[in-house]
Amino acid sequence: MTQPVLLVRLRSGPGIGERRRGVHLVSAPDSVPEHLTAWCGIKIAPGTADLLPEFSGMPCELCLARAPRPILPTGG
Ligand SMILES: [Zn+2]
Repeated sequence: MTQPVLLVRLRSGPGIGERRRGVHLVSAPDSVPEHLTAWCGIKIAPGTADLLPEFSGMPCELCLARAPRPILPTGG
């Protein structure tokens, strides 16, 4: 069984640097949580981030490094 993964990008705002605005990976929760925790460890409060339908922009390097398996096509 594979757990769905959400692609989340933080909205810009005070204290949100461009580095944190990469596309973070979040395991889809079973129920609506108080906040989401990305694989890199950052906490994402409701209303501070956008869900992306597909990968676009810079991925969060830490999230990718902690991915349990390759999730991006390698292009062969
Ligand atoms: Zn991340």
